Amino acid sequence: MSPFREEQYVCKVCGYNMIGYYPETCPFCGALKVNFITAEDCNENYEVLETKVTDKVIRLNSSPPLGLEHSAYSIKTEKQIIWIDCPSTFSKDIERMDKIMLTHHHFLGASNLYRSYNSAFLWIHEEDSKQELAQKYPFDKKFENDYNFCEIEAFHINGHTPGFTFYIFKDVFFICDYVSVSGGNMHFNPYGPHDKTIAGANVMDNILNKHILRKVCGFDYVLDYSEWKAAFDILLNSVKI
Ligand SMILES: [Zn+2]
Ligand SMILES: [Zn+2]
Repeated sequence: MSPFREEQYVCKVCGYNMIGYYPETCPFCGALKVNFITAEDCNENYEVLETKVTDKVIRLNSSPPLGLEHSAYSIKTEKQIIWIDCPSTFSKDIERMDKIMLTHHHFLGASNLYRSYNSAFLWIHEEDSKQELAQKYPFDKKFENDYNFCEIEAFHINGHTPGFTFYIFKDVFFICDYVSVSGGNMHFNPYGPHDKTIAGANVMDNILNKHILRKVCGFDYVLDYSEWKAAFDILLNSVKI
Protein backbone atom coordinates (compact mmCIF):
# COMPACT_ATOMS: atom_id res chain seq x y z
CA MET A 1 0.00 0.00 0.00
CA SER A 2 1.35 3.43 -0.90
CA PRO A 3 1.84 5.68 2.10
CA PHE A 4 1.37 8.77 -0.10
CA ARG A 5 -2.32 9.30 0.46
CA GLU A 6 -2.40 13.06 0.85
CA GLU A 7 -0.22 15.80 -0.54
CA GLN A 8 3.07 16.22 1.24
CA TYR A 9 6.03 18.38 0.28
CA VAL A 10 9.63 18.25 1.42
CA CYS A 11 11.73 21.42 1.62
CA LYS A 12 15.09 20.82 -0.05
CA VAL A 13 16.64 23.66 1.96
CA CYS A 14 15.90 22.25 5.42
CA GLY A 15 14.22 18.84 4.96
CA TYR A 16 10.98 19.76 6.75
CA ASN A 17 7.94 17.76 5.56
CA MET A 18 4.76 19.79 5.02
CA ILE A 19 1.72 17.55 5.45
CA GLY A 20 -1.53 18.10 3.56
CA TYR A 21 -0.85 21.54 2.13
CA TYR A 22 1.40 23.49 -0.22
CA PRO A 23 2.43 26.75 1.47
CA GLU A 24 4.15 29.72 -0.21
CA THR A 25 7.15 29.43 2.09
CA CYS A 26 8.60 26.71 4.28
CA PRO A 27 7.24 26.97 7.84
CA PHE A 28 10.59 25.79 9.20
CA CYS A 29 13.22 27.77 7.26
CA GLY A 30 11.24 30.28 5.17
CA ALA A 31 12.50 29.01 1.78
CA LEU A 32 10.21 29.74 -1.21
CA LYS A 33 8.00 26.95 -2.58
CA VAL A 34 10.20 26.50 -5.70
CA ASN A 35 12.45 24.59 -3.31
CA PHE A 36 9.80 22.01 -2.45
CA ILE A 37 9.48 18.52 -3.93
CA THR A 38 6.67 16.09 -3.29
CA ALA A 39 7.30 13.34 -0.76
CA GLU A 40 6.94 10.86 -3.66
CA ASP A 41 9.69 12.63 -5.64
CA CYS A 42 11.76 12.65 -2.49
CA ASN A 43 11.24 8.89 -2.16
CA GLU A 44 12.40 8.42 -5.79
CA ASN A 45 15.46 10.67 -5.62
CA TYR A 46 16.80 10.04 -2.14
CA GLU A 47 17.43 6.91 -0.16
CA VAL A 48 17.99 6.24 3.51
CA LEU A 49 21.57 5.29 4.26
CA GLU A 50 22.15 2.93 7.20
CA THR A 51 25.45 3.08 9.11
CA LYS A 52 26.29 0.77 11.99
CA VAL A 53 27.03 2.50 15.31
CA THR A 54 26.99 -0.52 17.64
CA ASP A 55 25.58 -4.05 17.36
CA LYS A 56 22.17 -2.68 18.33
CA VAL A 57 22.21 0.86 16.95
CA ILE A 58 22.11 2.02 13.33
CA ARG A 59 22.45 5.59 12.13
CA LEU A 60 19.95 6.70 9.47
CA ASN A 61 20.57 9.52 7.00
CA SER A 62 19.00 10.74 3.79
CA SER A 63 21.32 10.13 0.85
CA PRO A 64 22.29 12.34 -0.85
CA PRO A 65 22.07 14.65 2.18
CA LEU A 66 18.74 16.49 2.30
CA GLY A 67 18.43 20.06 3.57
CA LEU A 68 19.82 20.55 7.08
CA GLU A 69 20.67 16.89 7.00
CA HIS A 70 20.25 15.29 10.40
CA SER A 71 20.80 11.76 11.65
CA ALA A 72 18.09 9.60 13.12
CA TYR A 73 18.88 6.32 14.88
CA SER A 74 17.35 2.87 14.91
CA ILE A 75 17.72 0.81 18.10
CA LYS A 76 17.19 -2.93 18.11
CA THR A 77 15.98 -3.62 21.63
CA GLU A 78 15.13 -7.09 22.90
CA LYS A 79 11.47 -6.80 21.92
CA GLN A 80 11.03 -3.86 19.55
CA ILE A 81 12.82 -1.70 17.02
CA ILE A 82 12.71 1.88 18.16
CA TRP A 83 13.78 4.96 16.27
CA ILE A 84 15.07 8.10 17.88
CA ASP A 85 13.99 10.90 15.50
CA CYS A 86 13.23 10.33 11.84
CA PRO A 87 14.85 10.95 8.43
CA SER A 88 13.30 13.56 6.10
CA THR A 89 13.14 10.93 3.35
CA PHE A 90 10.61 8.10 3.35
CA SER A 91 11.91 4.66 2.28
CA LYS A 92 10.11 1.34 2.16
CA ASP A 93 13.40 -0.55 2.24
CA ILE A 94 14.22 -0.20 5.92
CA GLU A 95 13.36 -2.76 8.54
CA ARG A 96 10.04 -1.99 10.20
CA MET A 97 10.17 0.03 13.40
CA ASP A 98 7.62 -0.24 16.21
CA LYS A 99 8.00 3.24 17.70
CA ILE A 100 9.48 6.55 16.69
CA MET A 101 10.47 8.60 19.74
CA LEU A 102 11.32 12.21 19.06
CA THR A 103 13.90 14.32 20.87
CA HIS A 104 11.93 17.44 19.85
CA HIS A 105 9.77 18.82 17.06
CA HIS A 106 12.51 20.10 14.70
CA PHE A 107 13.32 16.82 12.97
CA LEU A 108 9.88 15.27 12.56
CA GLY A 109 10.94 14.28 9.02
CA ALA A 110 8.70 11.81 7.23
CA SER A 111 7.61 10.28 10.55
CA ASN A 112 3.92 10.42 9.57
CA LEU A 113 4.66 8.28 6.48
CA TYR A 114 6.75 5.72 8.38
CA ARG A 115 4.03 5.60 11.01
CA SER A 116 1.25 4.78 8.55
CA TYR A 117 3.32 2.45 6.33
CA ASN A 118 4.66 0.42 9.27
CA SER A 119 1.73 0.80 11.68
CA ALA A 120 4.28 2.31 14.04
CA PHE A 121 3.66 4.70 16.93
CA LEU A 122 4.94 8.24 17.11
CA TRP A 123 5.85 9.67 20.52
CA ILE A 124 6.76 13.24 21.45
CA HIS A 125 6.74 15.35 24.59
CA GLU A 126 3.43 17.12 25.17
CA GLU A 127 5.02 20.60 25.09
CA ASP A 128 6.61 20.08 21.66
CA SER A 129 3.42 18.54 20.25
CA LYS A 130 1.78 21.95 20.75
CA GLN A 131 4.29 23.81 18.59
CA GLU A 132 3.19 25.21 15.23
CA LEU A 133 5.60 23.00 13.23
CA ALA A 134 4.16 19.87 14.85
CA GLN A 135 0.48 20.66 14.32
CA LYS A 136 -0.16 18.35 11.35
CA TYR A 137 1.75 15.35 12.65
CA PRO A 138 -0.31 12.43 14.03
CA PHE A 139 1.21 11.70 17.44
CA ASP A 140 0.14 8.54 19.28
CA LYS A 141 1.56 9.45 22.64
CA LYS A 142 2.31 12.85 24.10
CA PHE A 143 4.35 12.09 27.18
CA GLU A 144 4.83 14.55 30.03
CA ASN A 145 7.30 12.77 32.28
CA ASP A 146 10.54 10.84 32.03
CA TYR A 147 9.97 7.18 31.22
CA ASN A 148 11.59 3.80 30.57
CA PHE A 149 10.49 1.66 27.66
CA CYS A 150 12.22 -1.42 26.23
CA GLU A 151 15.48 -0.53 28.04
CA ILE A 152 15.36 3.00 26.64
CA GLU A 153 15.36 5.79 29.20
CA ALA A 154 13.78 9.12 28.23
CA PHE A 155 14.70 12.31 30.09
CA HIS A 156 12.86 15.59 29.54
CA ILE A 157 15.21 18.56 30.01
CA ASN A 158 13.47 21.51 28.29
CA GLY A 159 15.83 24.24 26.98
CA HIS A 160 16.40 24.21 23.21
CA THR A 161 12.67 23.41 22.87
CA PRO A 162 10.13 23.22 25.72
CA GLY A 163 9.70 19.46 25.27
CA PHE A 164 13.30 18.54 24.51
CA THR A 165 13.99 14.96 25.60
CA PHE A 166 17.21 12.99 25.41
CA TYR A 167 17.49 9.21 25.44
CA ILE A 168 19.84 6.57 26.78
CA PHE A 169 19.92 2.96 25.60
CA LYS A 170 22.45 0.85 27.52
CA ASP A 171 25.76 2.69 26.94
CA VAL A 172 24.58 4.88 24.04
CA PHE A 173 23.30 8.41 24.54
CA PHE A 174 21.11 10.28 22.01
CA ILE A 175 21.22 14.07 22.17
CA CYS A 176 20.27 15.29 18.65
CA ASP A 177 21.06 19.03 18.28
CA TYR A 178 21.05 20.25 21.90
CA VAL A 179 24.76 20.99 21.40
CA SER A 180 26.91 21.08 18.27
CA VAL A 181 30.53 20.02 17.99
CA SER A 182 33.06 21.51 15.59
CA GLY A 183 36.83 21.24 15.69
CA GLY A 184 36.70 19.78 19.21
CA ASN A 185 34.68 22.75 20.52
CA MET A 186 31.13 22.39 21.72
CA HIS A 187 28.38 25.00 21.55
CA PHE A 188 24.81 25.11 22.80
CA ASN A 189 22.12 25.28 20.16
CA PRO A 190 21.49 29.03 19.87
CA TYR A 191 17.74 28.57 19.29
CA GLY A 192 15.60 28.65 22.41
CA PRO A 193 16.03 30.50 25.73
CA HIS A 194 19.70 30.42 26.69
CA ASP A 195 19.10 30.27 30.46
CA LYS A 196 16.77 27.28 30.11
CA THR A 197 19.21 25.58 27.74
CA ILE A 198 21.95 25.87 30.37
CA ALA A 199 19.61 24.70 33.14
CA GLY A 200 18.66 21.67 31.00
CA ALA A 201 22.34 20.93 30.38
CA ASN A 202 22.99 20.86 34.13
CA VAL A 203 20.10 18.45 34.67
CA MET A 204 21.51 16.33 31.85
CA ASP A 205 25.00 16.41 33.38
CA ASN A 206 23.67 14.96 36.65
CA ILE A 207 21.91 12.15 34.80
CA LEU A 208 24.92 11.39 32.58
CA ASN A 209 27.18 11.13 35.62
CA LYS A 210 25.03 8.27 36.92
CA HIS A 211 25.48 6.23 33.74
CA ILE A 212 28.36 4.38 32.14
CA LEU A 213 28.33 5.47 28.52
CA ARG A 214 30.38 4.67 25.46
CA LYS A 215 28.89 6.46 22.45
CA VAL A 216 27.07 9.72 21.77
CA CYS A 217 24.70 10.01 18.83
CA GLY A 218 24.11 13.61 17.74
CA PHE A 219 22.30 15.22 14.83
CA ASP A 220 25.42 15.26 12.64
CA TYR A 221 27.98 13.21 14.52
CA VAL A 222 28.68 10.01 16.41
CA LEU A 223 31.45 10.40 18.99
CA ASP A 224 33.08 8.39 21.74
CA TYR A 225 31.47 9.47 25.00
CA SER A 226 34.77 10.36 26.72
CA GLU A 227 35.66 12.80 23.93
CA TRP A 228 32.15 14.29 23.91
CA LYS A 229 31.98 14.60 27.71
CA ALA A 230 35.34 16.37 27.90
CA ALA A 231 34.03 19.05 25.49
CA PHE A 232 30.70 19.19 27.35
CA ASP A 233 32.45 19.74 30.72
CA ILE A 234 34.42 22.65 29.23
CA LEU A 235 31.20 24.13 27.83
CA LEU A 236 29.36 23.78 31.17
CA ASN A 237 32.24 25.31 33.12
CA SER A 238 32.33 28.25 30.71
CA VAL A 239 28.74 29.19 31.60
CA LYS A 240 29.01 28.72 35.39
CA ILE A 241 28.63 31.97 37.29
ZN1 LIG B 1 12.64 24.59 4.78
ZN1 LIG C 1 16.49 21.55 17.14
